[in-house]
Parts: sequence; C-alpha cells; structure tokens
Amino acid sequence: MQLTFLGTGTSQGIPTVGCNCTVCLSDNPKDHRLRCSVIITQKETSLLVDTGPDLRQQLLTNSIINVDAILFTHEHNDHVIGLDDIRPLYFRRRSNIPTYGLERVHNEIKQRFSYMFGNSVYPGVAQIDTHSINENTATFDIDDIQVTPIGVMHGNLPILGYRFGRIAYITDASLISEKQIKKLSNLDIVVINALQKKEHHSHFTLDEAVEFINRIGAKAGYLTHLSHLMGSHDDISLELPKHIHVAYDGLVITH
Ligand SMILES: [Zn+2]
Ligand SMILES: [Zn+2]
Ligand SMILES: [Zn+2]
Repeated sequence: MQLTFLGTGTSQGIPTVGCNCTVCLSDNPKDHRLRCSVIITQKETSLLVDTGPDLRQQLLTNSIINVDAILFTHEHNDHVIGLDDIRPLYFRRRSNIPTYGLERVHNEIKQRFSYMFGNSVYPGVAQIDTHSINENTATFDIDDIQVTPIGVMHGNLPILGYRFGRIAYITDASLISEKQIKKLSNLDIVVINALQKKEHHSHFTLDEAVEFINRIGAKAGYLTHLSHLMGSHDDISLELPKHIHVAYDGLVITH
C-alpha cells in the first residue's frame, strides 16, 4: 500500500497570501503546503481523500490520471471545493466516480455543485455516485482496499477519518472518542492533523497530536494540516521523537 501526500497545509495554504513570515518566505519546498489531501493506492486501486481547491495542481504534479473512488472527510471548502477538477478523470474512465462520506457532507456538496446533480445537469460535468457512510459503518472494501470510517470531532462538527489496513488518515480532528480510538489499534502508520503549537478550537495542536500518536501506539506518525504559525519543516522536525515526522507535499509512504 502506498500513501502519497498531495497537500499538507491548513485551509489558507503555505505560503499564506500577504504573509512575510520566515515559513511563508522559506525556499525549502517542504515548507510549501497545498491544501490537505492524500491518495492511497494498492494493486490496481487508487482512493483519493478529499478534493480541495488545489486538486488540479495536485493531480498534475503527481501524474494522477485515475481514481477509483473519492472519500470525503468533511464539507469545509479546503476539503471539497476542487471537486470539479475530477472532470478529466471522469472523462477517461467514462463511468460515474463513487464517492463516500457522511450524508450531511454529500448534501452540502449537492448544494455547492448543484449543476452536477438532479434535472439540471450541465453538459460536460463529472458524474459521481454518492455512498453515504458514518462512524458506525462497518469495514468495507473498495476494490483492493479495506476501508474503516473513523468518527472524529472537528470542534463541534462530527467528521470522518479513515483506516486503510494498517494505515489511518485523520485530519481536522480536535477530539476522538474512546469508542473510535478502539478502531485505531495495531496501526503501523497514522496521519494526524497538527495545526500549530497554540491551542485551537477545532484542531489538534502539536503536543496534542504527538500525545494522540503515542496513546494509540502507532509505530509511526505523520503530521499534516499545518499552519505557517507552526514553524518550518526542519525546525519542527528537530522537536519530534524519532517515530513522528512532519509530512510534506509529495511525500510517499510505502507500506
Ligand atoms: Zn481543513
Ligand atoms: Zn506566514
Ligand atoms: Zn475543516
């Protein structure tokens, strides 16, 4: 199984428009962060998690020409608003692309992209088949990949993370219940959001993310959804224990 980070930045991305901080001005490519997304591949199957505003650039940079399904974490624009950019993928496969996510998230998407649905479908749009799942949905297969939805709280908003075999991808979490944490045992790799060092109402801080990784006992942890306020890739890396890494755009983990 392979996980590729397509984007690892928070909603504004890094550099942040108009900011002159050292992180935003850094010439280290690991400090340039598009909005959060990953693609998981195993054998012939590729699953895209989220379709944020940088999707077109992410597909081009990573030479992605096929996805078998899309999994949504939640409806915030930094995770869904690039949905229209799946059109070339849809034209190639010539069949509807299945999407998985909460019913609430699909309803939001149907409002934001009303021209893709219903009686008024605009000619030339991509077509998706929505499959609504929730935190109680049992593990299921999408072609070659086993998927388990994990319910997490993003401030007051219940959203989904996903487990794929022994890898889990959770972003935009600020709280995870004991019941859901049970689904995260025996992980080799966990990807978790860490926004900044300062407390935040809807995201784990650096310390909370590290504590979470240690608590579930994952062998390795990768931090994503970083704000420029967190500091540079190299500076944060120095502060972390050996098994925890700062993810960066383009990083590929093979397992
Ligand atoms: Zn986000
Ligand atoms: Zn900045
Ligand atoms: Zn969010």
